[in-house]
Amino acid sequence: MQEFDPHVLEEKPIPPPEEFSKKARIGSLDEYHKMYAAAQADPESFWGEQAKLLHWFEAPKKVLDWKPPHAKWFVGGKLNVSYNCVDRHLEKNANKPALMWEAEDGSTIQYTFAELHERVCQFANVLLTLGVKPGDCIAIYMPMIPELAIAMLASARVGAVHSVIFGGFSATAIADRVADCKAKILITADGGFRRGKIVPLKETADAAMKNCPTIEKCIVVRRTKEEVAWQEGRDLWWHELEEKASKENIAAPFDSEHPLYILYTSGTTGKPKGVLHTSAGYLLQCTWSTQLVFDLQEDDIYWCTADIGWVTGHSYVVYGPLSNGASVVMYEGAPDFPQKDRFWEIVDRYKVTIFYSSATAVRAFMAWGTEWINAHKLTSLRLLGTVGEPINPAAWKWYFEAIGKNRCPIVDTWWQTETGSILISPLPGATPTKPGSATLPLPGVIAKVVNMKGEPVGPGETGYLTIQKPWPSMLRTIYGDDERYAREYWTRIPGVYFAGDAAQCDKDGYIWVLGRVDDVIKVAGHRLSSMEIESVLVSHPAVAEAAVVARPDEIKGEAIVCFVALRVGHEPSKELRKELMDYVANTIGSIARPSDVRFTSLLPKTRSGKIMRRLLRELATKGAVTGDTTTLEDMAVIERLLKAQADDEE
Ligand code: ATP
Ligand code: MG
Repeated sequence: MQEFDPHVLEEKPIPPPEEFSKKARIGSLDEYHKMYAAAQADPESFWGEQAKLLHWFEAPKKVLDWKPPHAKWFVGGKLNVSYNCVDRHLEKNANKPALMWEAEDGSTIQYTFAELHERVCQFANVLLTLGVKPGDCIAIYMPMIPELAIAMLASARVGAVHSVIFGGFSATAIADRVADCKAKILITADGGFRRGKIVPLKETADAAMKNCPTIEKCIVVRRTKEEVAWQEGRDLWWHELEEKASKENIAAPFDSEHPLYILYTSGTTGKPKGVLHTSAGYLLQCTWSTQLVFDLQEDDIYWCTADIGWVTGHSYVVYGPLSNGASVVMYEGAPDFPQKDRFWEIVDRYKVTIFYSSATAVRAFMAWGTEWINAHKLTSLRLLGTVGEPINPAAWKWYFEAIGKNRCPIVDTWWQTETGSILISPLPGATPTKPGSATLPLPGVIAKVVNMKGEPVGPGETGYLTIQKPWPSMLRTIYGDDERYAREYWTRIPGVYFAGDAAQCDKDGYIWVLGRVDDVIKVAGHRLSSMEIESVLVSHPAVAEAAVVARPDEIKGEAIVCFVALRVGHEPSKELRKELMDYVANTIGSIARPSDVRFTSLLPKTRSGKIMRRLLRELATKGAVTGDTTTLEDMAVIERLLKAQADDEE
């Protein structure tokens, strides 16, 4: 089968800036290769050595117990996740800022490690007083406020299992998740602020709790001071409980494999899965990858813009950076409030050095235009990161120039809720980057692009991304559905972890993640990824974002349908439609000529910002949407697309 080179925009690799490499933890590709080889030769010694990054009450007796598809890491070890993230920094860094929180209205609160410790201890005592036992599940439905991180750390401290439910979810989504994880306590707030408006979290939580028989207590943070409905006996104010609680709490040791949290995936591909992570392996790989991928140094000011409701927020707002004793910026609100330069204003004010955001956010910044950026200095930045979706090379380059001023390396980090931590990414002082590629697997990670039989495919051929060996932060199961865990991840290609993403590996061993396996398009016997066509579209000056799907076609097998959102200052027209079709055909080849280009003001996305191509595929194929839309951010987007389609047909 003939394949196309998707790296239409590929040029020479960009070496890490010399100044950066000189001071970096891993300063050359050679050093990376050595570390990689050592880990590959003896993974257990390698991870056993890395485990010293954590504080242990009892050292593990065995690194790995692997009975496929079930892994136990650091067997026999005892630790406390919260102790690792807070207490152990008190000796040297009690007065170092731990959380630097910015409210949407611009007010700020800073917690040093000593202050964070005090609040985590108090809330841990609250949980104990309420009778929380190790293994009990606590659902957390909160805005981006410090109490969210405190609730997670306190839950971990007493051995409870938290399940954070993104603050934008509906009552039904909450009730579904609570029923699945059987939470006894729900922690929420009277409300949150988003674009200056109040999000009535307690009201939504109340509606959900009508269908949550397992919930015994609901703890409510006072954030907006709005009146909220109250159920005596069930509802309790956070601040009243905290006031009464002692500031001292000794962190108890828990087993390495003690469950830490359940988190539901974003639902891009279907019904969300309750991914279960446990303590030591998860924390270790988060701690270790934060150091390496972000080249974390003692004086860094680190900002990951992800909502804590997603795995990125778990691993790289809370656990990874705090376990390293880093100073973490946390922002409550929207990136365009009060104006579209809010992020850059925050970067300058806090002197942020490491900025980690999503590919979808980068495309939004690009669409908003550089005038929002030019008013800010951004001189404190030294490293940029991206996650969540493949980043189109045009967006990568824009990020590099407009935000990083050609000075900051970009780490394009590939990972999943299931992987727990970053598995494929450049090391910023070592790895030459290629815009659009997550580059090379981290040491200890054996990633291969294979066919359905598990055989590696050649350079430039599309295959399935797999991880060949267990890794410490891997999911342990899908909560309550171990059979689905085995089926979904470990049996499609026997013996290896199947990530569900299509990818290519180039001649230098660089991995190019092309998107979901389901998003690969077959036109007249050729396999194209939606990502490569989208990348071409996004490189056109009129286009802000694009989503490409296939619709069955009697002659070609599948026909290409593009949904395109335009940049500010461009209007839909027949001429532009034709121009975009020609542009794709001229750049990739006539085989890739779209059959249809539809203009839309917005694309349907999950609440974590990922494009939901499966809904667009349904729309393009059946003219209707019937699949699971519970994680869709805005149903109106689909309604508008349906209406536009009906208007077109008239
Ligand atoms: P669901 O599994 O419910 O459909 P989801 O896969 O969107 O949800 P996450 O676990 O948050 O939920 O996302 C992981 C996916 O995001 C990866 O499988 C991959 O498709 C995509 N992804 C993440 N980072 C990158 C990256 N740097 N490059 C390309 N794709 C990425
Ligand atoms: Mg997924």
